[in-house]
This record gives sequence, C-alpha cells and structure tokens, in this order.
Amino acid sequence: MKYYDKLIFELSREGRTGCSLPSKCDSCAGTDAIPAGLRRAQPAALPEVSEPDVVRHYTALSQMNFGVDSGFYPLGSCTMKYNPKINEEIAAMPAFAALHPLQNDLPGVQAVYEGLDRALAAITGMKHFTFKPCAGAHGELTGLMIIREYHMSRGDMKRTRIIVPDSAHGTNPASAAVCGLEIVEVKSNAGGLVSVDDLKPLLDDTVAGIMMTNPNTLGLFEKDIREIARLVHDAGGLLYYDGANMNPLIGTVRPGDMGFDVMHLNLHKSFSTPHGGGGPGSGPVGVCEKLVPHLGVNVSGFNGNFGVMLRAYAYILMLGRQNVKLCGKLATLGANYIKESLKDVYRLPLTQVCKHEFVFDGLTHDGSCEGRQGATTLDVAKRLLDYGYHAPTIYFPLLFHQAIMIEPTETESKETLDAFIGVMRRIADEAASDPGILQGAPHNTPVSRPDETTAARNPILKFQDA
Ligand SMILES: *Cc1c(COP(=O)(O)O)cnc(C)c1O
Repeated sequence: MKYYDKLIFELSREGRTGCSLPSKCDSCAGTDAIPAGLRRAQPAALPEVSEPDVVRHYTALSQMNFGVDSGFYPLGSCTMKYNPKINEEIAAMPAFAALHPLQNDLPGVQAVYEGLDRALAAITGMKHFTFKPCAGAHGELTGLMIIREYHMSRGDMKRTRIIVPDSAHGTNPASAAVCGLEIVEVKSNAGGLVSVDDLKPLLDDTVAGIMMTNPNTLGLFEKDIREIARLVHDAGGLLYYDGANMNPLIGTVRPGDMGFDVMHLNLHKSFSTPHGGGGPGSGPVGVCEKLVPHLGVNVSGFNGNFGVMLRAYAYILMLGRQNVKLCGKLATLGANYIKESLKDVYRLPLTQVCKHEFVFDGLTHDGSCEGRQGATTLDVAKRLLDYGYHAPTIYFPLLFHQAIMIEPTETESKETLDAFIGVMRRIADEAASDPGILQGAPHNTPVSRPDETTAARNPILKFQDA
C-alpha cells in the first residue's frame, strides 16, 4: 500500500489513537468550565490513527513534492537555486522569528534593514530601497506608483503611458495595468533585443517610462541599454528595471550604471529564500537619488517579510564582497555550457552568448532524425520527470512556438549539469527511436498527463468522493 493513496480520514479506525491524554486532569476543570452553549454537540470528526500511520502518510506526501532539495530544477525565469540552510537557521532564531511586525523599530531590526539597504545599494547602484513589497509583482506596482508620483509631483500630468517590450515577463504589463497606466508594446528585433528603431517613435510627452529586464527573458543582454536610457530620459520618461532575476549581474554590472531609475529585486529568487507555492516573498524597490523622496509610497501595512530579508542579508554577508561576484559568473557559465552542449539536438533560435538562461525552440529535426518531427516541447518536459528532473519553463516566452527555457543557476556542479545534458540528449534520441515513450510520459509519477486545459480552467483542489 502507498501511504499517499488514501486520505488520512480513510486510514481512520474507530478508537485507534496515537497518544493518550487524561480524560480529566487534576489541575483543570475540564470541559465543565466551558459553558454548555459553546460546547460541541458531537465530538469533532478527527481521524483516529496511530502515530506510525500519521508519520508514514505525511512523509509520503512530502516526498511527492519536487523541490530543489530533491533534485535539479532548471526552471527558466524563476531562479530555483539551492539556498544554504544556515540562512534558514538564522531566520528561525527566536529573537527574530518571534518579533511582532510592529516591533520594526527595534534597533536590531533596524540594523538589518539598514545593512541590507547598504548591501543592495552597492550591488545595484541604487540610492535606497523600500522593503515593503512582498513579491516581485508587488515591487513592480510600487515602482510604477513611484514613477507616477514623481511625474505628478512636478505637475506633469500627461504621462500615462508605459512602454513594455514584447519579451517582458507577464507581470510587467499586469502591474502597469493595475497602476492605471496604458501599456505600449515595443517589439524585439531579430536578435531578441529591444529594437531602438521601434522605440524612438513611441517616445513623447505622454510616456511615463519604460519597463525592462536586462538580461531580458531570453537571457540576452540588452547591449543598447545606454542608448535606450538616453532616449527615454530625453523624452522625460524614467526607466524601470525588473531585477527579479539578478543572479547573472550580481557583482558584474549594476542597473544604476545602465541608467535605470527604479527597480525591484526578488529576494526570494536571487537572494536565498526558497520559493514557489506562493510565499513568503520580498520584492524590495530601489530608487536613484532624485526619487528617494517618493520611496515612502504606501503599499503594505508592515515593513515587508522580515524573515526573507534576514536570509538575504545573511547570504550576502556570508558570500562577502569577493565571492558575491562569482554568482553572476557561474550562473552565466552554467547556462552557456548547457546551451552549447545541446544545440545540435535542440533548436537554438538565438545563438549569442547568453546570461543566466536561454531558450530552445523544440528539438531539431533535420533529415537524419525524421522521427523527432512529432515530439513536442511538452513531451520532452514530461519525459524529464521520469528521469527525476523538474521540467524547465515551457512555452514561454511566447516568441517561439516550442520554447524550452532553461536556467541552471549558479549553485549546480559540473557533474549535475553533465547528468542533465546526458538525459536531455537521451530524450532527443528517444524522440527519434521510440516516440511513443515520450508521448505517454511521465510513466513513474503518481499522476501522468492530466488534461492541461481542464486542469487549468476547472481545477479540483479538494478531495471529492468518487
Ligand atoms: C518571477 C518574476 C517576476 C514576478 O515575481 P513574483 O515574486 O512572482 O511576483 C517578475 N519578473 C520576472 C522577470 C520574474 O522572473
């Protein structure tokens, strides 16, 4: 029997128990002390199970989850890197963990905020940060509100449009819309970079600014960024930097030096808080000197998720000034190593040196591998699960029909990357020799292929009796 096949309630047997409690303790009045009207009419419907049943059931459930502690997680645009456990220990120290959010002004807490502010300012070239935003998208909204406030404080009321590249992360246009800005899309050129020629005619006195990611979501460095910054500034706009995936730049290049005025970081991606599953996150927003007066924009009740900041601060301090520079270099090296090792079997639409991530456009199918014609990116991703890997990001960005976006992160050894490359090649071989095995994958997981559309449109998230 697999302990995850049944609900804990189905394991229940009347009278079975995992512990023994006195029916009435000497030092208390027992249930008699509770007014009759507030007592249950029926005993609570709790499962009656033994301790081993409980332990096996929940241990089995926990092992069904794929995490970066159980294997390699090459999820592009997500920076699913391994996070040192010491940071968890520091965040869990009672002196920190037991604080109430209103104790923000304690000197020790302030010292963490101030130290982290200084470290992030040094890494990004911004002047100061606000730590209120609790996610990357929350940071985007905060940054855009700062941009809007800046223009309005100068009596410049016409600036209601924001330029967003077609390669942008989906949260960028979403945050702009929530902020009440009108989104203007700028196209990428054939090389996957923002087209300066397409940008120029969009710039006028109604533009609040531009949102960019650099390296962009294709993992490519926007080499015209200084030119773009000059054009946007000349038109009176500001530059917003989506720094959710800062790994490839840490210690090498600073958004402030590229000409960006406002930015957010995802501490829960680049700075050592495990993420996925909805939180906790932290998307601190940094601004250049002239925007510091607007940093107080009110976007949350408290001063952010302090535990995430502790992890980030511990992480940065532990790496130190020299080693922090290795982050970006290793993230970039790992991505290029995988890209170059697989580009004969997976189609590489953009061949430049990439930063921390890159995009394949499905399998190559030249004349020699006719069989691969039928294999889709979804098949490759599903088959990877059989081999014990989390699938990469697929079908994003939308610029390629069979996109596979791979981000190995800086924490993986060459042996891990080599093993992954080996499996990706093996899957490419299978696509030619035994396409059925891909189309039926995954074969080893508790659930194989749900109907993806129904699962997204009509998710059933709680137990239903068959
Ligand atoms: C993850 C990500 C975001 C959004 O961050 P959340 O914390 O999920 O809101 C924004 N931009 C980019 C480029 C990202 O990778």
